[in-house]
Amino acid sequence: MTATLPLHTLIVGGGIAGSALAIALASDGHRVTVLEKQSEWAFQSSGIFIYSNGLVALDRIGVLPEILAAGFVVADGENVYLDHRGDPIVDVFYPSAEGGRIPPVIGIKRAEMHCVLATRMQALGVEIRLGTSVNAIDDGAAAGPAAGPVMVHTSDGAALSCDLVVGADGIRSRVRSLLLGDIEPIYTGFGVWRSIHRRPADVVSKLLMMGVGKRFGVMPISHDTLYVYATSNEPGRPWYAPDTWHAHMRAKFDEFQGPARRYLEELSPATETLYTSVEEVRLPLPWHRGRVQLIGDAAHASTPFMGQGGAMALEDAVVLAEMLGARTADASLTNTLQAFGERRYPRCAFVQDVSRKVGEAGGLENDASCLVRNDRMKAGAQADVDRFYAHMLGPY
Ligand SMILES: Cc1cc2nc3c(=O)[nH]c(=O)nc-3n(C[C@H](O)[C@H](O)[C@H](O)COP(=O)(O)OP(=O)(O)OC[C@H]3O[C@@H](n4cnc5c(N)ncnc54)[C@H](O)[C@@H]3O)c2cc1C
Repeated sequence: MTATLPLHTLIVGGGIAGSALAIALASDGHRVTVLEKQSEWAFQSSGIFIYSNGLVALDRIGVLPEILAAGFVVADGENVYLDHRGDPIVDVFYPSAEGGRIPPVIGIKRAEMHCVLATRMQALGVEIRLGTSVNAIDDGAAAGPAAGPVMVHTSDGAALSCDLVVGADGIRSRVRSLLLGDIEPIYTGFGVWRSIHRRPADVVSKLLMMGVGKRFGVMPISHDTLYVYATSNEPGRPWYAPDTWHAHMRAKFDEFQGPARRYLEELSPATETLYTSVEEVRLPLPWHRGRVQLIGDAAHASTPFMGQGGAMALEDAVVLAEMLGARTADASLTNTLQAFGERRYPRCAFVQDVSRKVGEAGGLENDASCLVRNDRMKAGAQADVDRFYAHMLGPY
């Protein structure tokens, strides 16, 4: 098909990737419709870190000041590493970007981040259909290159026409299953426990306590709150009833001392607590079929050990909008989507691989190997961070 600009893009999923893409495209003058299955914006509790490369992407779509105001900036990028007793291992510093204009890392409550993104979508006139999913997509490919619009049949019985459909509907993507059949995310054997607490005034850095096969992290997410995230080996994918999460979290990390103690003791039925079984999506290219494209977790959900999944979703949005904007009127949309996948795949696979290795190494630890790990961290953790971010802050 030879599409003419501006495009009408229908995005399925108004999470990080979908909202960012909607903002980027609408800012460039394209028409955008977002289908979001939640009947009101209600994002899971807990926080998220966004490192400098993700903040660069938020800057590109024009929402960085609001995000920084809603979150907590760790201005010097400090990450304090302790062992599970609370004894220091090493401090590392994440880099800022663009000569210090973009901070190294922020923590933000997910709901606050989505509030910023939803407010901007509304201001830009993005059509948002809450409480709506997708039942079927007909991209007209069977009719050949002169095909008409893509037709999207929604869960509320509407048939919407558009030029391009983007599946930004997360790890259990419905668009992915319509495109490629059922592809189950892979369970990784890890669980993540998260909880929200009041922030003591002196907690201004990121902290990670390295246990034996377990991690216990603390990150400020606003002027008065912080978020605890803790990982454990969970072979066999156990299920925990939500009303028991706080008690399991407290018991599982009971050997953690030092700064962890106060947060473990605070855990109660009233604490906002969340347990997540960690899954991955490893999807080879192509990430599109015809004029239907997958982005974000729908295409490449990662383990969370590098804290980069949200940043990859944001970068996808920036790159896809840029490539659609740069497309000449006679260029095929499917060729642009093919090129998008080829451009994004190596970087997303790199993040997935690094993150998976970090998780797997943690999963194999014992008391003796942790002493070696701590010595290695003292000698090389800053160099590891510098190497990783030299790559992440390079061109993509
Ligand atoms: C425990 C954990 C901790 C993490 N921590 C971090 C971190 O600190 N930093 C970081 O950068 N990343 C982190 N991540 C990764 C990050 O959360 C994801 O990579 C990111 O949310 C992906 O964004 P997305 O928009 O692709 O998907 P999502 O954020 O999942 O959004 C998908 C959206 O689609 C909607 N949807 C789903 N199905 C449909 C449908 N059929 N129709 C319509 N709408 C639909 C959903 O309601 C949702 O709004 C973490 C992940 C986990 C599991």
